[in-house]
Amino acid sequence: MVLPELILQKSSFIENIFVDIDCPVCGGKVFKTVWRATPRQFLSDFRQSYYNLDAIGVGFDTPFYIKRCKGCSFVFVNPRFRNDLYDVVYNEAKVGQRHQKAWAFQEGDLKYLYNTHHKWAASRILMRALSYLHGRFEKPKNEGQRRIRLLDFGCGNGHLLDLCRVFEVEATGVDIDLHRIQFCRDKGLNVCRPEGLEAASQFDVVVSTSVVEHVNDLHEYFRYVTDRLKSGGRLHLTGLNPGIIRREKKRGTYRLVMPFEHLNYFTAGALDTLAGKYGLRRIQVSHLFQPTTKLLDYFTPFLKNFVFRGFYPTGMFEADLTKL
Ligand SMILES: [Zn+2]
Repeated sequence: MVLPELILQKSSFIENIFVDIDCPVCGGKVFKTVWRATPRQFLSDFRQSYYNLDAIGVGFDTPFYIKRCKGCSFVFVNPRFRNDLYDVVYNEAKVGQRHQKAWAFQEGDLKYLYNTHHKWAASRILMRALSYLHGRFEKPKNEGQRRIRLLDFGCGNGHLLDLCRVFEVEATGVDIDLHRIQFCRDKGLNVCRPEGLEAASQFDVVVSTSVVEHVNDLHEYFRYVTDRLKSGGRLHLTGLNPGIIRREKKRGTYRLVMPFEHLNYFTAGALDTLAGKYGLRRIQVSHLFQPTTKLLDYFTPFLKNFVFRGFYPTGMFEADLTKL
């Protein structure tokens, strides 16, 4: 007689882990399932080695679903974890990653640029952020210029913030991974949890790369960013588009389609609709200097701006927005 009770308790516990949500972009309630898989199928051997599924209360055969909204074509994980469980996902379920992914922490000292690809990636983002503010650098006399204020939302190990120090950019980072926050603070960087940064803090630029796909409450995220961005300020976002699902399904192995953490897959239309609600409009920017090695390189800016509009067949997107 004890057994059925136990089963009942267990299943009600599991049911409480997940919540069904309406479409965060248009409020729609009608969806088409575009992807279904279990952790046994979508976690690589490497990830299986460091994820602690017990901490989030799921098993290797728990199904996860990605759905497309019939109203606006936004693609997202649904049902998804209860809001408070995402803190567990980032702070308890993958603690082993700190040892397995040691390379991500091998840096901090700017003289070791060669030691990591992260600084290279961050350099390009910083140059992009500074290029938004090119007007400030055009006159040889620097009268009346103010220090640039930059917020890195989802600053991770602080690679971009390290570079900001070199240029005396007044930079702040927020993250929800407590271990990474401490790692940044040990380097002397100004980093806190999102709720630790008051809304009165105003920034010229907000950078948020590979973050928006992780965000559970997109409304809270866009409100947070727009509240802290000056009028005319710029937001640089990168994330995933639904093309990544098709791509990885075809490949048969999943890296970026990872429903524990990657919840949101934006089409251009879905991003424009959602960002528009918060007074953010997409802009086009010129592209950074890279050597041309193949014919296609000459057409890359055209392809990026006019053909793909920032949403690439690789399954990634990049968008630059301004606060109206
Ligand atoms: Zn929708």
